[in-house]
Amino acid sequence: MNFWYYENHQDTVTFGIKVDKHLYTNKSDFQQIDIFENDVFGKFMTLDGLMMVTEKDEFIYHDMITHIPLAVNPNIKRVLVIGGGDGGTVRELTRYKHITKIDMVEIDELVVKASIEHLPITSCKLDDKRVNLYYQDGLEFVKGKENEYDLILVDSTDPIGPGEGLFTREFYRDCYKALSEDGILINQNESPYYESYRHEMKRANEKIKEVFDIVNVYQFHMPTYPSGHWLFGFASKTYHPIKDLKKDIWENFGIKTKYYNTDIHVGSFMLPTYVKELLEDESK
Ligand code: SAM
Repeated sequence: MNFWYYENHQDTVTFGIKVDKHLYTNKSDFQQIDIFENDVFGKFMTLDGLMMVTEKDEFIYHDMITHIPLAVNPNIKRVLVIGGGDGGTVRELTRYKHITKIDMVEIDELVVKASIEHLPITSCKLDDKRVNLYYQDGLEFVKGKENEYDLILVDSTDPIGPGEGLFTREFYRDCYKALSEDGILINQNESPYYESYRHEMKRANEKIKEVFDIVNVYQFHMPTYPSGHWLFGFASKTYHPIKDLKKDIWENFGIKTKYYNTDIHVGSFMLPTYVKELLEDESK
């Protein structure tokens, strides 16, 4: 039986992975959750049919959302993860012994349960004693918080469905208040390659620039995401992501990573000309 998972990256462009096993399927109040298995990508989870995480390339995404801010401010102690249901971001955070609190606010408890059951590679550290799980809307959770976190990681879905609110000015303003004076926000910044994703990339970046003093974008290669060219946003009240990189301090942590290193830290902020022009030219 030849069963394939397809995701349309554009109306006339599709990405397909042959499915060897359909391990899990369920519909929560928020989205359709499926976990499949393929001989190349291993187990992979989709939400409403959109690729979220695969065993083979999750290390790239979770390295780059976590280690970039920790290498800029190695004193980060209090972290908020919004989304992140598969647990991969939390797993990387728990590798820092000096982090004292990791609050993970995931709107959909079923995503966490499915990840614990089928994706131990990412969910393996959700039971760390520093981790507090909240099954709530991240947009509501941050409201009214003041100076409670040194780092906020928005590990969300795209700006549709439950993820839409996590790309708003209101949300970025609430994150700004919830952060300490030297706080850092890392946000999902979509992709510059296809028109529909490019539009969301610009919108998110423009809104964050209205709220934070220092705003940059960095890139990484994510094979199973549309075009493979994916971005995170780095926003901070005080730190510049390259000038304030604490290379020696980070390397002395001795954290072994498969994708992140302090060279790619700098390189990831060096953007292609078309991307720089898109981000600089707000009229486009
Ligand atoms: N970490 C994954 C990866 O490797 O690409 C992708 C992201 S993770 C699966 C996205 C999570 O964001 C989902 O579990 C989704 O339920 C959650 N989410 C979406 N909107 C949310 C909201 N408003 N508040 C909290 N969590 C939300």
